[in-house]
Amino acid sequence: MNSSNSKSDYSHEKIHRILESYHLCDHCIGRLCTHRKEEELFQQAGKRIREKHSTFSKTVESSCELCHGLFEELPDFYQIAFDSVNDYEFNTFLIGCHIDEDISTKENQVIEEFDLTNTASVKQEINEYIGIRLEEEMEKKVSFKHPDIMIIINTQFNVISLQIKPLYLFGRYNKFQRGLPQTKWFCRQCHGKGCRYCQYTGKLYENSVEEFIAKPVVNASQADDEAFHGAGREDIDVRMLGDGRPFVLEVKNPKKRSLDLASLTKQIKSESDSAIAVNYFKYTERSDIARIKEAHFQKVYVVKIHARVPIQKEKLKKVAESLQGTTINQQTPTRVEKRRAKKVRRRQIYRCNVLEVDEDRASIEIESESGTYIKELITGDDGKTQPNLSALLNVACSVDALDVKQVKGE
Ligand SMILES: [Zn+2]
Ligand SMILES: [Zn+2]
Repeated sequence: MNSSNSKSDYSHEKIHRILESYHLCDHCIGRLCTHRKEEELFQQAGKRIREKHSTFSKTVESSCELCHGLFEELPDFYQIAFDSVNDYEFNTFLIGCHIDEDISTKENQVIEEFDLTNTASVKQEINEYIGIRLEEEMEKKVSFKHPDIMIIINTQFNVISLQIKPLYLFGRYNKFQRGLPQTKWFCRQCHGKGCRYCQYTGKLYENSVEEFIAKPVVNASQADDEAFHGAGREDIDVRMLGDGRPFVLEVKNPKKRSLDLASLTKQIKSESDSAIAVNYFKYTERSDIARIKEAHFQKVYVVKIHARVPIQKEKLKKVAESLQGTTINQQTPTRVEKRRAKKVRRRQIYRCNVLEVDEDRASIEIESESGTYIKELITGDDGKTQPNLSALLNVACSVDALDVKQVKGE
């Protein structure tokens, strides 16, 4: 009994014992008993071993004690996998499967009983078989890292579930029209179901930046849903100018992955009546969401103010100059008190220039740290923002219009 095979971990004797103890199919022998030759499938390896040890094999292929003939169904599993992904555009995929617990238990039992190393599991063989065939017949590639489609086969019930990798699109949006919220804003009364208060739309506003951008993309990609991730947001009545605010659009369960982004850009503009424009539209990865969410982009604003009395230009210029380079303290503004935590925020004002003064109206350009409440910097918000322009000027000022001129930092 010294006939150990140096190429495999198993001695002839051990293989004989396995074949004598169990009825096994070629697949199961192949997975349990040997190193495969290059390009060899488990079934082919198993067949080779069986033939070599035929005098010891009592196995009839169809009555495998380990898999109970599961591998005879492989072509069926392949077919349902093929059919289920046929509607989807993808380049990479990965197969996973669920199998009966009885089979895994039996498999582990045999492995333990004969102290087998270098075996492959039933799951591995199914995944490999279907993976290789899909690669060949669909000309797609298996990818273990971020596949476009994850195909999960339940061999017990012959059903497939798919996990489709979302598409991630980066862009910077302009909002040229006031009165548009950034994202879908569900009705406070019915939370989206539709009621009298919202005229059965489920929404507080008919449109949003999100909807104008996402709708054409969801249609073109035949997706189920989307999520809009903006790098901060502007108030509803604030325009977003310059080259726009960074965002990532997450497109869920897309059937089409290669989109004509240039034509979608045009479509977004025309369908929003030029209220929205998208710049630098491109494909990106999931990690870009965290990047733009965490970044603290410096902003440049243009604010039109309205004073209670005519403004003295020189005095306003001095006030603007005095704000330059200062740090302001802002208690949570009255208008957002219900939605935000109450605290004092310290924010840096980098620049403050007077652009124009006309009687009781003026335009000012302000560059400040991310998260500055500009309206409150002007009005003072009952003293909650210190210092503030109204107090420094000694004239109560309100904000007529506010634009974000630039989101810096990329
Ligand atoms: Zn078997
Ligand atoms: Zn409602």
